Amino acid sequence: MSFFTASSSSPTADANAIALMDERERARILAKAALFSPPSATLPDGRRDLVGLSRDEITAILAEIGEKPFRTKQLWHWIYHQGVTDFARMSSIAKPLQEKLAEQFIIGRPEPAMVQTSSDETRKFLFRFRDGQEAETVYIPDRKEDRGAVCISSQVGCTLSCTFCHTGTQKLVRNLGAAEIVSQFMAARDSYSEWPSPKGETPRLLSTIVLMGMGEPLYNYENVAKAMRIIMDGEGIGLSRRRITLSTSGVVPLMDRCGDELGINLAVSLHAVRNDLRDQIVPLNRKYPIEEVLAACRRYPAASNARRITFEYIMLRDVNDSDADARELVRLISGIPAKVNLIPFNPWPGSEYRPSTRERQSRFAEIVMNAGFASPIRTPRGRDILAACGQLKTASERARAGQAVADE
Ligand code: SF4
Repeated sequence: MSFFTASSSSPTADANAIALMDERERARILAKAALFSPPSATLPDGRRDLVGLSRDEITAILAEIGEKPFRTKQLWHWIYHQGVTDFARMSSIAKPLQEKLAEQFIIGRPEPAMVQTSSDETRKFLFRFRDGQEAETVYIPDRKEDRGAVCISSQVGCTLSCTFCHTGTQKLVRNLGAAEIVSQFMAARDSYSEWPSPKGETPRLLSTIVLMGMGEPLYNYENVAKAMRIIMDGEGIGLSRRRITLSTSGVVPLMDRCGDELGINLAVSLHAVRNDLRDQIVPLNRKYPIEEVLAACRRYPAASNARRITFEYIMLRDVNDSDADARELVRLISGIPAKVNLIPFNPWPGSEYRPSTRERQSRFAEIVMNAGFASPIRTPRGRDILAACGQLKTASERARAGQAVADE
């Protein structure tokens, strides 16, 4: 049932009813997320991974081994500012304590099971976590400057089955833990030797994060939020909230929470301007239709002319790319500080869509731009290594799918 069909006696009562429904819905989503929890951060030998723990959690486990709270600040600096993974390199900590820490803890990284670099220098990592599950991370360097975006995964697989998306054909296996989310970024930085963490306005090679990899980040909100707080911490990696963008298919109740608590940038996978079509392309639309998603965008606190909401729009030939679609898009987003990323569809084996023609893309972009919204047509990156938007799918899963086809 839509939140807006309930009849109440006053606007205040309406608002309260909506807030209550949102609260219930949030609780339902978070309870469901818990069913797909990541495995324990403790290794079979009893050592615990320090990556992914909050400062308070580190302080608490240090207290268990008789260490004072000020050690947290030291460890934080070595782990997140210096990027070390070996306690023996922590020169401000005496050797006996280094050894004691190494007996109790590790500073983990996922194993890079595969690293591929595209002809356009996009680099795709397949990271394997301790339980053998895998997820992909992609570094997309800027073509002109020494900077680039790291596209991070939030789940292994995805529940949402968006029909244009290769990842969506891989069933949800589990959520990634905060450690697994943070350490994708750290391991990507290892690959480019970007340690210690650049401070302040010092240019960064891995300069932005986009939560646009495998999975719907708002269906794993607690772990994603914890990971982003660690990444934004000024005494460690120190990446500004302005340089982090979370992309959602429109999980309305958690869009509000993300804006209030994290204040990071928001991208919304819109992809269609009519509910009947969006129901097919982004099936989550049946739960949170376009009007509700856009209302949440209008409320989003981090949205301003300086920090626009990005609407992602995949261009599917003869499906969503007409002039009328472009005009309706403009009407829907009017009044929202927004830009529209037009994404040429990247075909993948078995997909039923075709990319829009170049002329269609240009005409669509022109209509949106003439209405005052930036509307860049994104150049697909990393196509040759299946690293482009919507193409991520773990290699092991692809191999299994290939085997299933071969067995038919
Ligand atoms: S587009 Fe995102 S939310 Fe949709 S199926 Fe793909 S990974 Fe999942």
